[in-house]
Amino acid sequence: MLKINEFQQLMKDIYLKRDQKQGLNKTFIHLIEEIGELAECLNSKNKEIIQNEIADIVAWIFSIANLLEIDMEASLLNKYPMKCPRCKNNPCICK
Ligand SMILES: [Zn+2]
Repeated sequence: MLKINEFQQLMKDIYLKRDQKQGLNKTFIHLIEEIGELAECLNSKNKEIIQNEIADIVAWIFSIANLLEIDMEASLLNKYPMKCPRCKNNPCICK
């Protein structure tokens, strides 16, 4: 199984040069475009299309993180330390 930091390195290897060339703002616009594409197909019940769009969104998120030198694995575990950050439970019991 691919770990989060391994996926981040993969995205760096493949896309960092491209992303640095286009810059943060254009990279962010690509993310928003992909979110729009997910919105369009979300009610289609076509799981294959939906999973592809979600993968695109995650890839652009990692591109942004790489441009800002943010460690995604550390960030995710820091924000979500195996429990809900609000109620501190797993599963969450927030109302
Ligand atoms: Zn909660």
